[in-house]
Amino acid sequence: MRHEFPRSIKVAVIKRATVNYNVMCEKCGLPTKKFQIDHVVADAIGGKPVIENAELICQSCYSVKNPDDTRKAAKTKRVEAKSLGVKPAARRTMQSPGFPEKPAKAEKLSIPPRRSLYRSI
Ligand SMILES: [Zn+2]
Repeated sequence: MRHEFPRSIKVAVIKRATVNYNVMCEKCGLPTKKFQIDHVVADAIGGKPVIENAELICQSCYSVKNPDDTRKAAKTKRVEAKSLGVKPAARRTMQSPGFPEKPAKAEKLSIPPRRSLYRSI
């Protein structure tokens, strides 16, 4: 479950990141209009919804960071499940319809009798 930051924290983070009426990305330091309040430590791996764990990041930083978070969260879940003795679901291999029956071997053609190259007239 995702724990979103309460509005009061979001407001505080935006204020913290605002310099001369420009909202600055706290990661790359560039002014930004599209931004996210992101978890420094992802909530999925124990990050708390507190201002110390909040970071204002611009859209491009967010898109760079996010796939990584998703991977970490998935790994955390796997490790947790393993430590609890939960075995991963058995991987089922795809059932293929199999190969068609081998066609019966064609009977070997008998070799025609040799003919001499030069016919005697
Ligand atoms: Zn940025």
